[in-house]
Order: sequence, then structure tokens, then C-alpha cells
Amino acid sequence: MDFLFSAEQEALAGKVRAFVDGRLAPAAAGFDLDGRIPPELLADMAAEGYFGLRVPAEYGGLDLDAVGTGVVLEELARGDITACYPVLNAALVAGVLNANCDDTQKAAWLPEIARGEAIVAVCMTERGHGTDAAGLELKAEPDGDGWRLTGEKTSIMIGGFATHGLVFARTGPEPRSRGVTAFYTPLDERYVTRTTLPSLGNRSGGRSTLVFDGLPVGAGQVVGGTGLGFVQGMRGFDYSRALIALMAVAAAGASIEDAFEHCRTREAFGQSLGRFQGVSFPLVEHATYLHGARLVAYEALWRNDAGLPHRVPANMAKWWGPRASVDAAHQALLTLGHFGWSEDRPLARRLRDVIGTQLGDGTAGATKLVIAREFLGREHAP
Ligand SMILES: Cc1cc2nc3c(=O)[nH]c(=O)nc-3n(C[C@H](O)[C@H](O)[C@H](O)COP(=O)(O)OP(=O)(O)OC[C@H]3O[C@@H](n4cnc5c(N)ncnc54)[C@H](O)[C@@H]3O)c2cc1C
Repeated sequence: MDFLFSAEQEALAGKVRAFVDGRLAPAAAGFDLDGRIPPELLADMAAEGYFGLRVPAEYGGLDLDAVGTGVVLEELARGDITACYPVLNAALVAGVLNANCDDTQKAAWLPEIARGEAIVAVCMTERGHGTDAAGLELKAEPDGDGWRLTGEKTSIMIGGFATHGLVFARTGPEPRSRGVTAFYTPLDERYVTRTTLPSLGNRSGGRSTLVFDGLPVGAGQVVGGTGLGFVQGMRGFDYSRALIALMAVAAAGASIEDAFEHCRTREAFGQSLGRFQGVSFPLVEHATYLHGARLVAYEALWRNDAGLPHRVPANMAKWWGPRASVDAAHQALLTLGHFGWSEDRPLARRLRDVIGTQLGDGTAGATKLVIAREFLGREHAP
């Protein structure tokens, strides 16, 4: 067993940390207030290669493994969770395209993702179907050689500014997941109307409702097999859930670091705050929980890279990481007192943003359902 990152992974983390310290973190409070990730920042992230983490080198990407992708997202999330979502989506969608598409599709789509020219939204959730995603109703109706997409998706992160979507639609009469096909498509404004949703956190994330009014998609835009989109997409979630857990843990960990620093520098009752066990011990406990959740997340990514089953640790990480992160970010904010509550420090923003990781890509309920089915067998599980 080896708990150390390789020299390349350490170097990668250092490079991303420099970008975060010099570029992302100083801008984050401002664009959170503006409610929009600046296009120039996305361009700078593209120049660093962040949208090509999971794109093979032959298509212009960094061709990282899952652990390497976790290293990058973890570092970025120390600066801002919301700016991670376009990167996370690019990694998730590139992985799904790479695993399920033919060479022509890959050559057409993967380079534009790697260059950051295609910013991709994952369009699964509907008003009536969240956790019960397999019941989704957005229709793909036959039209010539292709289809037309009609219906509504909602709560789509970065949906307000994404150029493309991985859209899950019902193509057949088969029940639930078997009738669902995935399409990779530009979000042509002539057929797709977007409404950005006001949100507690991720205020610059453009979480949106997208109404599809007969968007034409060709046969060549089907990802994988017709009727297989749900199953193929869900395989991607087996590792994106671990990545989101790492994002949450990293953001909360940054708040815990801020709280420890405050404990060193703030004086109360004639001594430093850290000398009160009632202040320092809770922080130590939260640091411990975050450490545990981080290890489970990396175990899932490592197992993915090794070609081993990783569904259980990925789903464990997805409920535990965000849960531990919300508690830790909350405690850290309280430790800074009124300084923590102020928007001129990142603690309040981080707390709002980590709460969102408890919902996006599956709630704790959804992930525990997956784990219970693995442990108990379908016939004995909820
Ligand atoms: C920040 C954020 C980002 C998101 N990003 C995207 C995105 O990019 N693309 C996208 O498609 N969607 C996205 N979503 C939507 C997200 O995937 C859904 O919110 C989530 O799947 C839950 O669905 P729901 O909100 O409809 O809740 P529901 O499914 O209605 O669930 C409500 C509550 O009941 C619980 N519950 C439901 N069924 C069960 C069950 N069988 N057993 C136990 N508990 C259950 C849930 O855990 C939850 O607490 C995002 C949401 C948020 C908040």
C-alpha cells in the first residue's frame, strides 16, 4: 500500500495551486457577487489545460487518470468550487464520450472540449425526475435520419452559459432506463430557452432550466447505443461522485486551515484562541472527518484507474464528503466569529457552495440507495 502521490502528481498539484493562488482565488469573491464566471477566467483555465483533463493526448488533452483529475479538482476547489463545475463536466463528459463514441465523433468533439471551446452541461434532471432520473420524460421524436428533442431539463449546473449539452432523452417505449438515449449537442439558442435559477450557493454557476423546443439532433450525435445512454452515463457518475467529494473536502479543508490560522492569531481572555480546547478540538475532529472522506474518495479514483470495482467507495465518498464538509465549513465559519460571517472572507461562500455538493450528481439518499443495493442485493435493498 502506498499513500503518497507520485512526483508528477505533486508537481501537477503545485502548478494548479500556483494558478489558484495567483488567478482564481483572488477573483472568486468578485465573480460570486457578479453571479457569473468571467469568460476571461474560463479562457485562462482552458490555457492551463483544465478542460482536457480526461481527453486523450491525440485529441489535445492532458490525458490524466482519475487520481490526477482528482488532484487538479481538489486544488481548484481550494480557490472556488463553482469554477470547478465546467472542469468537472468536461472530465465527466470526455470520459463518457471516450468510452462510448466512435473515432469520427471523438475527433469532432474531444478537441473542442479540451480547448475549452465547448463548455458542456450534463442535462439529466427534470422537474418531475431528480433522484428517480430513470423515469425522465424529455422526448426524442424521430425526424428524418435523426430526432428532435422536446421537453424541459432543470437545475442544470452551468446551463446558463454552456455551449453544449450531454442530454438524456427518451427515444423508445421501453420502461425507465432502457428507453433513454444520450445525445451530445450544441445548445442552439433557436431551440433551447434558458432561465437561470437563483441559488443559495454557486451563485456564479448559472444553474438553469433549459426548455427544448424541437432541437434537431442527427443520428451521429447519439452517444453510444440507442437506449443505452442512461447505463453508459451512470458509469461515468461512478467516478464523478468521488471528484465532487474531493471538491467539497478541499473547500471545507481550506476553511479549516483558515480557522486554525485564526486560532493562532486571535486572542481572547489573554491567550490565543487555540488554547481553548472547546475551540481547537472541534476543528481537529472536523479535520479528521475530512481526512477520512478524502481517503475514501481517492480510493475510489485509484480503483477506477486500476480497473477495479469502485462504485461503493465513490458513493460512500459522495455522501460522506459533502456531509463532513458542510459541518466543517460551518464550524470553521463560527470559529472566525463575525469575520467568518463577512463576505470579504471566503468562509461564507464556501459554506453555501459545499451545501450544493450534497445535491448535485445525487443526494445522500441516492448514493446510499446504490450502496445498499451493492451490500444487500437488489431484492433486499430499499
Ligand atoms: C448545486 C446543484 C447542481 C446540480 N447540477 C446538476 C446538473 O448539472 N445536471 C443535472 O441533471 N442535475 C443537476 N442537479 C440536480 C440534482 O441532480 C438533483 O437535485 C438531485 O438528483 C435530487 O433530485 P431532486 O432535487 O429532484 O430531489 P428528489 O429526487 O425529489 O429528492 C428529494 C429528497 O428525497 C430524497 N429521496 C428521493 N428518493 C429517495 C429514495 N428512493 N430513497 C431515499 N431518499 C430519497 C432525496 O435524497 C432528497 O433528499 C443539481 C442540483 C444542485 C442543487
